[in-house]
Amino acid sequence: MIGEKVQGEELNRWLEGIAAFNATPGEGITRGVYTPEFQGARRYVKNVMIAMGLEVSEDCLGNIFGVYPGTDPDVAPVWTGSHIDTVPGGGKYDGLAGVFAGLEGVAAMIRAGVRPKRPISVNVYAGEEMSRFGVCCIGSRALSGRLSAADLKDHADPDGMRLYDKLKELGYNPDDFDQEFPLKTKVHGSLELHIEQNDKLEKAGVPVGVVTGICAPTNLRCRVIGVQSHAGGTSMTDRRDAYMAAAEMSLALERLAQTSASAYITATVGEMRLTPGAANVIPGRAEFSVDVRSVDGDDKTELVELWRDEVRAIAGRRDVDVDLTPLNDDAPLTCDPHFGDVIRDQADALNIPHMDLISGPYHDSLMLGDLMPAAMVFIPCKDGISHDRKEAIDLDDLVKGTAVLAESLYQIANE
Ligand SMILES: [Zn+2]
Repeated sequence: MIGEKVQGEELNRWLEGIAAFNATPGEGITRGVYTPEFQGARRYVKNVMIAMGLEVSEDCLGNIFGVYPGTDPDVAPVWTGSHIDTVPGGGKYDGLAGVFAGLEGVAAMIRAGVRPKRPISVNVYAGEEMSRFGVCCIGSRALSGRLSAADLKDHADPDGMRLYDKLKELGYNPDDFDQEFPLKTKVHGSLELHIEQNDKLEKAGVPVGVVTGICAPTNLRCRVIGVQSHAGGTSMTDRRDAYMAAAEMSLALERLAQTSASAYITATVGEMRLTPGAANVIPGRAEFSVDVRSVDGDDKTELVELWRDEVRAIAGRRDVDVDLTPLNDDAPLTCDPHFGDVIRDQADALNIPHMDLISGPYHDSLMLGDLMPAAMVFIPCKDGISHDRKEAIDLDDLVKGTAVLAESLYQIANE
């Protein structure tokens, strides 16, 4: 079987090897998209692909495609892979596990002496994490048609460097954008392995998760304008405190998410800025972020609408002005049920326990799902911790996940 040919030592060597491309040694892995570390890590992966004998190509955003050719030149390929950029001070496995699991899956096929009907392309999608250009999933978003050539010129980093200029500086060809995106060729489907970034698998003692749906974020910016005044000189009844209104709005959001009947929904206020921000001044202005995610797009829309009503009511009662700016509203993905069945069957055949999961975090697969049937395989990460230097996995779980991925890819590539 292909799954038995998966080598943990090789996976570990690659994961440790690429970890050297890091802007913050000793303080987690920092490898933002289009930084020198990112470019170095890209070269590392391409060298692994070349050494394996894959056909390597790139597009004008730096997505990398390492193709293991199939026996039938006329059929659409199967895709796998993930991302190699990290958050600041992140870990070694978010994204990386999926790229190297894909490569190791193909390496196992090569060792087993098998070649499926369809080509298998192991891909590295450029810039999955929220980038300094204010856009996430750059590569997969472009492939799916959710990013336009104009966006490259609209998105700039805090220093004013436009994404378009950065790409030019690095030698990419952003003027080719419309020729390459959205993807012009047909793909049979995509399977991505990723660490769970939650602790459900670990708590259940199960090494493989079959993802049935991926939540997608709706982000808003809420600005509350009250009246700034003296903390001691203004009695409690005379205040129009922007922060207290914002706090009540935040708690209303939490309550709506806690009492929602949706299968999986989260609501987060991750950022709150008060003006002027002094201990002895009642804030005249509060500005906060809102992040709502669900696996069900209708439930998410409904929660945001209910919250808007509450926000208006709270603002009226507290006599403050409020302004809600929608930032983005991505649709969640239902993973391909057939691919889910294939993953479960292959795990059963390998005697590897598995369970179904919903992904709270988004992944490149969320974007790819616009274009092709897509599914994901999760492996546990220690204590559910991710986006942190403490991110850790048990190599044995990755070997099992890779075995299931490899068998599933081979199965789907023979359809
Ligand atoms: Zn990731």
